[in-house]
Amino acid sequence: MAAITMKNIVKEYGDGFKAVRDVSLDVQDGEFMILVGPSGCGKSTLLRMIVGLEDITSGEMRIGDRVVNQVAPRERNLSMVFQNYALYPHLTVYENIAFPLRLAKKPNEEIDRRVRETAEVLELTEHLDRKPANLSGGQRQRVAMGRAIVRQADAFLFDEPLSNLDAKLRGQMRTEISRLQRRLGVTTVYVTHDQTEAMTLGDRVAVLRKGVLQQVGSPRELYEQP
Ligand code: ADP
Ligand code: ADP
Repeated sequence: MAAITMKNIVKEYGDGFKAVRDVSLDVQDGEFMILVGPSGCGKSTLLRMIVGLEDITSGEMRIGDRVVNQVAPRERNLSMVFQNYALYPHLTVYENIAFPLRLAKKPNEEIDRRVRETAEVLELTEHLDRKPANLSGGQRQRVAMGRAIVRQADAFLFDEPLSNLDAKLRGQMRTEISRLQRRLGVTTVYVTHDQTEAMTLGDRVAVLRKGVLQQVGSPRELYEQP
């Protein structure tokens, strides 16, 4: 686990457009932070700068006690869950979840232990030998999440992970993500434009508009004002 600290973060794209303007935000160790705002406000850009997929134009980004402005994505030890997460269709649930650990060349014993722990948390233990095609949408989503969390990263980053699901599944997954994050207690930044997700999932919500951080507070502070 690690806190994420952003100080005066600016992102100016090649064409001179400033997508993120002087954002300072501290995400505490173990905290679930929501980034919310209308399409185009800079949420994904900010998330991609945290994870290292986008260069930071200016400002300072810290993960734990390291300044990561110039640190490659691989070395940041973060785990990102995208909107469209494809599973490997020819691999079993077990091997899909194990995949990042195999890439990291972990010993088999450790892989087995971590895959089973992850499957248990996600209630996938009975499905480990099945292939993705034989699973329900929600189960597939959980496998994808398993693959993201099995590495025991310092923080999880979610980029609108539920936006392609139907309403019922979205509700289910909301509950699961919240349960999972609380159980694991891992620092999380979760991007969404959905107010229900913002109100129900996070410890705190950061509201972005046109690249500017407008408000940060608990869901109660932001949404239940008289
Ligand atoms: P959000 O995730 O809130 O929808 P984005 O971070 O994707 O917003 O985009 C923020 C703004 O930056 C938008 O106006 C978008 O068009 C612009 N933008 C995103 N990526 C690029 C890019 N590669 N080059 C230029 N402008 C970009
Ligand atoms: P989202 O709305 O989910 O953030 P977009 O469709 O805005 O996604 O962006 C998808 C991809 O296109 C991203 O990689 C982003 O960097 C790029 N992009 C978005 N806006 C621009 C832009 N104005 N110029 C160049 N690339 C852009």
